[in-house]
Amino acid sequence: MKALKVDHIGIAVKNLEETLQFYETVLGLELSGTEVVDSQKVKVAFLPVGDTEIELLESTDEDGPIARFIEKNGEGIQHIAFRVDDIEEAIQYMKDKGMKMLDEKPRYGAGGAQIAFVHPKSSHRVLIELSERK
Ligand code: ZN
Repeated sequence: MKALKVDHIGIAVKNLEETLQFYETVLGLELSGTEVVDSQKVKVAFLPVGDTEIELLESTDEDGPIARFIEKNGEGIQHIAFRVDDIEEAIQYMKDKGMKMLDEKPRYGAGGAQIAFVHPKSSHRVLIELSERK
C-alpha cells in the first residue's frame, strides 16, 4: 500500500456558515458542495485547493463525534485523509503492520468515498483517514 496524496484535511468547526466566510472571502477558496452524513452526525463542506481539499465539519448533534472533539480540544484540525486506491487492501495492510484500526471495514464517507480511520495511538496521535474515491 502507498498513500497517493493528501485527499483532504478535516477541520472541526462550530459554525459552518461563519467559517466558510473565512475560507471563501479571506483565502479565496470556492465551496464545491455540502453534505449531511447522518451516520456521523455531521454536516460537511468541501473546498478544493490545488490538488487537495479542505473539509469543514460541523456537528448536527451535541453528542456527535465532532461536537465531542470540539468540547475536548476546541475548533481545529481533526484529521488528515490520505487517498488510497483500494480501501479493503489498505485496511488489511495496516492490520498486518500491527496498526490498530477504528474501522475494520470500509464505511461511507462524504463525497461518496469509502473510508476507514486508523487509531491515533497507532499513528503518533494524528487521526488518519484512509479514503478511496473513484
Ligand atoms: Zn475526512
